[in-house]
Amino acid sequence: MQKLGFGLMRLPLTDGADPSSVDMKKLDEMVDVFLSRGFTYFDTAYMYHGGRSESAAREAIVARYPRDSFWLTSKLPTFYLHKKGDQERIFAEQLKRCGVEYFDNYLLHSLDKKNYETAEKFGSFAFVEKCKREGSVRRFGFSFHDKADVLDKILREHPEAEFVQLQINYLDWEDGNIQSRLCLETARRHGKKVIVMEPVKGGTLAKVPPQAEKLMRECHPDWSPASWALRFAAGQEGVSVVLSGMSTMEQLRENTSFMGEAGPLGGRERAVLSAVTNILKGGNGIACTACRYCTESCPERIAIPDYFSLYNELHAGGDKNALAVRYEECGKNAGTPADCIRCRRCEGVCPQHLEVADLLQKVSAAFSK
Ligand code: SF4
Ligand code: SF4
Repeated sequence: MQKLGFGLMRLPLTDGADPSSVDMKKLDEMVDVFLSRGFTYFDTAYMYHGGRSESAAREAIVARYPRDSFWLTSKLPTFYLHKKGDQERIFAEQLKRCGVEYFDNYLLHSLDKKNYETAEKFGSFAFVEKCKREGSVRRFGFSFHDKADVLDKILREHPEAEFVQLQINYLDWEDGNIQSRLCLETARRHGKKVIVMEPVKGGTLAKVPPQAEKLMRECHPDWSPASWALRFAAGQEGVSVVLSGMSTMEQLRENTSFMGEAGPLGGRERAVLSAVTNILKGGNGIACTACRYCTESCPERIAIPDYFSLYNELHAGGDKNALAVRYEECGKNAGTPADCIRCRRCEGVCPQHLEVADLLQKVSAAFSK
């Protein structure tokens, strides 16, 4: 299988303010090009695009291509399991939404210490094993957002998991909280295949500061910053698929142009990425990957990742007046950072473990100066 997977979590929209307004015409065209170039892996989840991603997958892929010509992956939202019967109900709904009789890969979504406890409480590993025996799941694993010792514990207690999905990118490689390298080594030690998520860290590594991009272009003039990030992830030993949440045809054309033959980076490239990491770490921005898991749980409907992105742009030297206009627009029909009531519901679902309420205060202060 080709190593690039199409993440269906940042799809093109017809209305930028409504995550469920997937632009099906554009998505159809992107799916056509992706498949025609020999790539076959699609990754959706129950809650992506406000619940619309799975049905968009049905319309753009399942209804238009033979079932054996692509892989479709979805995930059980462990953070939505509150009572007995929830996982059976959600799984049946997912098969229906996607219009399939089986998922090629099925994951327990976003395991960390807390979500693992939930999965254990409801017997989620046994549930997906049963689905596999019954034929509605071909392979199962889990996506993971915690430290390497927690990953080691889960893999020791559940050796039946066939693969893991990890956040691997060059910026988080040695990060004390994300521990990309240590997690990858742990998965390899347990003999698990690895699928990479967030290789471009929610777009952060596609727009690097000018001095960082200069280093990259001096080494390889025709490699974009995003392609450096994808190549870094794809070149790691044990990685079978690298997901990219592509939003435009331009991104898709670029990614499919080189990912078919991306191999390990050489010493020169690794040195460039080490220098780029130093530049980026000096930036001190908010490590939000714009996954939007938090926005649905916010009672004030605050567009949390959009505010974090504005803050990061401000921090990177962006034009404060222009950013202030966008800040006003974000709060037109919804809450602003100043409206946060500190209920911390968002923090319970944030895979990056961000202290969202405190960070929103910081954002509010930065824009009210
Ligand atoms: S803590 Fe603030 S941002 Fe988070 S869910 Fe509550 S109101 Fe929304
Ligand atoms: S704050 Fe956390 S949950 Fe919300 S978009 Fe950013 S990384 Fe995702």
